[in-house]
Amino acid sequence: MNARLQGIAVLGATGSIGLSTLDVVQRHPDRYRAVALTANRDVEGLLELCRRHRPEWAVMVDAQAAERLQRALRDAALDTEVLAGAEALCRVVGLAQVDTVMSAIVGAAGLLPTLEAARCGKRILLANKEALVMSGGLFMRQVVAGGATLLPVDSEHNALFQSMPADYLPGAGRPDGVTRVLLTASGGPFRTTAPEQMSKLSPEQACAHPNWEMGRKISVDSATMMNKGLEVIEACWLFALPQEDVQVIIHPQSVVHSMVQYHDGSVLAQLGNPDMRTPIAHCLAWPRRVDAGVEPLDIFAVGRLDFEAPDPQRFPCLRLAQEAWHAGGTAPAILNAANEVAVQAFLDRQLAFTGIPAIIESTLEKLSPGAADSVERILEDDVRARACALDLVGTPSGRRVML
Ligand code: NAD
Ligand code: MG
Repeated sequence: MNARLQGIAVLGATGSIGLSTLDVVQRHPDRYRAVALTANRDVEGLLELCRRHRPEWAVMVDAQAAERLQRALRDAALDTEVLAGAEALCRVVGLAQVDTVMSAIVGAAGLLPTLEAARCGKRILLANKEALVMSGGLFMRQVVAGGATLLPVDSEHNALFQSMPADYLPGAGRPDGVTRVLLTASGGPFRTTAPEQMSKLSPEQACAHPNWEMGRKISVDSATMMNKGLEVIEACWLFALPQEDVQVIIHPQSVVHSMVQYHDGSVLAQLGNPDMRTPIAHCLAWPRRVDAGVEPLDIFAVGRLDFEAPDPQRFPCLRLAQEAWHAGGTAPAILNAANEVAVQAFLDRQLAFTGIPAIIESTLEKLSPGAADSVERILEDDVRARACALDLVGTPSGRRVML
């Protein structure tokens, strides 16, 4: 192979998406090499990945974890250089050896390095939907100004991208001939749970997703359907669509990953097994195709495909996300921050499952959004919303009633 290997920085390498990315990378040593791997504080996880992928750089956001990793790498006679702190994420993204950045940090922490990847004109594989929800306008302008290539990894948005006109790229405005997009949702583990049971649901139940294996935060987001709410906003930014043109459809089998409807009556869909290595491999190889290690879809085993409308009563988070999008400015950043706090409180057993939308709604009511015209203003409102939501979690109405 004559072409230079594609150098990849994986932000959030030890997470669910990070590991799936490295699984695909490992299958194609003639195409890809890991240049930089990052994690928050999982020393063992990142050490193991450094052993296997021999990156030039490893970033640990936690300083003590960084020191431990450096020592462990020396003991293992590996010459990966360790950097510490959140600023180091931006530094590795900008390295000349890095062609492609997999943005797979969970939550708002992914915002600054993803913006930096856009500024540096990299090929961005975007899994971190929270960055787009918080700062979509700013981010999309940065992608265009920096000459970056933005490829959506989120399975629904990747399916939409695959079903768009062949010459279309996110950032190029509304795709030609498209009337609307149909965003599919599994409905999560509580699609049919009786409403009176909802306040008693545990983190273990919420994280037991029927079709996908994911990190804990996105698993809870799937259970509340906030994940779909965030994805509606993500679709609006990526494909320059008004919210009315993004329809959410419950599809329990998770085989149709989303659909695009055209003026001429055509509806194009992308199908496949629910395995994130497919959209990851699609983005890595785009516009070509590579083996992702995914089982071929057995359509006879699937048998049937069901579609139904979501129940707004059962899933208030969907409505909250839609309202935040309509309020505009920093409202989606406030929504996202309140959600991150509420989900963490639920995972820590300080909040009932039904407390999650309650905390988000109260936070949105208490804070008025500002203009989302700079990162500083967006981050200010992110901080304000976290403080407000944390406060609310401490009140009796937010707290779980422990019997
Ligand atoms: P995860 O919890 O499994 O992994 C998160 C990664 O981010 C880890 O490597 C962790 O070390 C790192 N991280 C956490 N906090 C950090 C911080 N403060 N600073 C720096 N790094 C930090 O999450 P995941 O399921 O892989 O999801 C990652 C992103 O991809 C999320 O935005 C999620 O919404 C999105 N996504 C995930 C899936 C999926 O199937 N897992 C599908 C679509 C989109
Ligand atoms: Mg998704």
